[in-house]
Amino acid sequence: MNADFDHAVEVDSVDTEYRYIAKQRCGCGGALGHHGQGLFQKRGKSYDVLHTVCKACGEERDFTFDISSFYCNSIFDWNGRFG
Ligand SMILES: [Zn+2]
Repeated sequence: MNADFDHAVEVDSVDTEYRYIAKQRCGCGGALGHHGQGLFQKRGKSYDVLHTVCKACGEERDFTFDISSFYCNSIFDWNGRFG
């Protein structure tokens, strides 16, 4: 995966990530299919990297999202419940 943390797109939910991807088009005009993801912790922030493949030409492209705003909150809730 080619995570681009410096240009991560700030999102407030996983839904927003998928809506963002749905609006993107490959250079050939094809729609992008979602083919995996990875979670990264860097510089105190949380990132979700979505790997996409063009449904038309097969070109691969990765999108990096900054999910700190809601990912940290869900961890906090988890600890509060079971800690
Ligand atoms: Zn394409």
